[in-house]
Amino acid sequence: MTEEGGEEGANAMTPGPAKRVKVLFPMPLAKAYDYLARGDLRAGDWVEAPFGGRLAVGVVWPGALDEVPAEKLKSVATRLGAPPLSSAVIDFVGWVAEYTMHPLGACLRLVMRSGDALRPPSGATSYIPSGQAPARMTEARQAALSAFAGAPLTVRRIAELAGVSEAVVRGLVGSGALKAISVDPDPPFDAPDPLKPGVALSPEQARAARALIAATGRGGATLLDGVTGSGKTEVYLEAVADALQRDAASQVLILLPEISLTLPFLKRVEARFGAEPAAWHSDLTGAARRRVWRRVCDGSARLVIGARSALFLPYKNLSMIVVDEEHDAAYKQEEGVIYQARDMAVARGARAGFPVILASATPSLESVVNVEQGRYELVRLTARFGSAALPKVALVDMRRDGPEDGRWLAPRLVDAVNARLTAGEQSLLFINRRGYAPLTLCRKCGHRMKSPHADAWLVEHRFENRLVCHHTGFSMPKPPACPNCNAVGSLAACGPGVERVAEEAQALWPNARRAVLSSDMVQSPVHMRAVLEAMEAGEVDILIATQMVAKGHHFPNLTLVGVVDADMGLTGGDLRAAERTYQLLSQVAGRAGRAERKGEALLQTYIPHAAVFSALERGDRDAFLEAESEGRSALAYPPYGRLATVTLKSKDERRLKECASAHKGALFNADGVIVFGPAPAPIYRIRGEARIRFLVKTRRDINIQAFIASWTERVRPPAAVRRVIDIDPYSLA
Ligand code: ADP
Repeated sequence: MTEEGGEEGANAMTPGPAKRVKVLFPMPLAKAYDYLARGDLRAGDWVEAPFGGRLAVGVVWPGALDEVPAEKLKSVATRLGAPPLSSAVIDFVGWVAEYTMHPLGACLRLVMRSGDALRPPSGATSYIPSGQAPARMTEARQAALSAFAGAPLTVRRIAELAGVSEAVVRGLVGSGALKAISVDPDPPFDAPDPLKPGVALSPEQARAARALIAATGRGGATLLDGVTGSGKTEVYLEAVADALQRDAASQVLILLPEISLTLPFLKRVEARFGAEPAAWHSDLTGAARRRVWRRVCDGSARLVIGARSALFLPYKNLSMIVVDEEHDAAYKQEEGVIYQARDMAVARGARAGFPVILASATPSLESVVNVEQGRYELVRLTARFGSAALPKVALVDMRRDGPEDGRWLAPRLVDAVNARLTAGEQSLLFINRRGYAPLTLCRKCGHRMKSPHADAWLVEHRFENRLVCHHTGFSMPKPPACPNCNAVGSLAACGPGVERVAEEAQALWPNARRAVLSSDMVQSPVHMRAVLEAMEAGEVDILIATQMVAKGHHFPNLTLVGVVDADMGLTGGDLRAAERTYQLLSQVAGRAGRAERKGEALLQTYIPHAAVFSALERGDRDAFLEAESEGRSALAYPPYGRLATVTLKSKDERRLKECASAHKGALFNADGVIVFGPAPAPIYRIRGEARIRFLVKTRRDINIQAFIASWTERVRPPAAVRRVIDIDPYSLA
């Protein structure tokens, strides 16, 4: 195998005495395997070696060698030319595997998400005019030469642009009128300029920026806690500038919870540092991924903005991470290797000795407690920037002041929207539920339309006239008659979704400019951007939206937020339901009144006495956190204790139950550990797979992974059953 890779090319292993090395492959393997290698290989080098009957890309891994006789070992075939993985990345991958209890090789896979980045760049040769006229000029040749607008082009592209044959273009190359130049298909990113001045900070912001720079200079984690619109971004960008300036080779990563936030954010950061940062998220094209991966790996991408998976890029010299909206549950990766990116970022910094900034207007209880206990530093911003004031939050008691049957907007909310329309201001109606109605019921026989493969109701999507399962993606046309009793036209929609609120808004305000935003109705990120830009430009009067708009957007003319169903986050299998409701609703409410005009938020609720709502009404976040903290500490839930789930999944229910009993039987008593279960998951069946779960709760000082390891290694699940471990679970649904 002599394929070339990377800039420096690949080396077929040179002859010489064979050494032993360990190689880890990005596959669900628990460990690295021994190989023989000639030449000088070091930990972190990329290699190709035979595995499972073919050549596979892997990484030379540190660790003790096995005692396998040399004649049984295979040899590494090739060393690939990409820059080696840094010891910090190797250490991090190993730690993530131990912490999350997922296979080491699966964790390495997270680093290799750009499949072809290790292959040689395959750019076709490009040409530019040499300035020398061809000996013979023809019309076609002239057209080909006129196709250039500065940038080098391939033969095929020149032919396309000029409408001539490729032979004409090759003729020009032969005559010396076009010259070949080598173009790197993965051009480096321009270096950010940390000395470029940022916006003029207010005195409070300037103080916060100084404090943040001082705190990050000491290393460790810092919570940047500031109300929405206080200028947290401007402040932490100062700390980013400081880190970029202090070390000319340093790399900084800014993590964002959602892709939709990255586009406007990239522009903002580009304006701040005068260079395009490297963006990393799941929507990138293969070529863009490859470019970012390679440039992060060789250290030339110095500023990376990305979603959670950006944490696993192969940084050469990462020296600061900012986790924006640190409380956001989107940082929890729930599939494959299950991890909490915020927590992993803090660990990444602690292990490599660099600072991590966690920014939020509604920090997680975990981070607040870490500040209280002296593990994190704290920098606060208490005022909104400029004249903007925090919105006034009021509750609408739906038991008393709700709308008539079949309507979802209370008279008080309708009046408030009317007042905004008169004043030429914008309103947002927020309902965090996609579709038209969450339940479809037969009025004759009471039959409920259920998903065939999951224990969940089908959600009506009226725009498409379909019933959809939000857990499995199953969908079917809405039937004209009840499938149970055959009554025609008896199926009734129960409860509101975003489409239904949009319908009501249309009936109430037919002449207002309305827009709807919900993830399944947005055809593309471009379309979504267009709606958000129209909203920003004041071209929309009423925006009806799900949580897509809750974060990060700035609508200067928005002064009213109506939360249609404030109670909905409080049900379901979420351990942090009250906290998330608080965060989401204060974030949504925070969209109102971000410029000069004062904002108001109206929360429609059937339980106005709940602690989370009275805290929102009083704007008393600390009181809420205190109540929440007492509740969790009484139950010894995180951050006062540790939690993990062990879930068994199978399509074969008999085997699943047997396997659950075997796990139960293998349990043993351990000090400070309680195991609940086995219990069916609240949504027992998803995609035809039934799920049984154990919940493990331990004292904070107990190594929960060690307990789970010694318990689960006593049981080997049959092939039909999957065992999934989730350390620090968020959702128990
Ligand atoms: P946060 O991240 O705390 O929600 P941002 O940093 O996004 O706040 O700031 C909110 C808005 O106020 C943004 O449009 C931002 O550009 C603007 N802003 C904040 N601080 C300043 C400043 N010092 N000068 C000018 N504009 C500012």
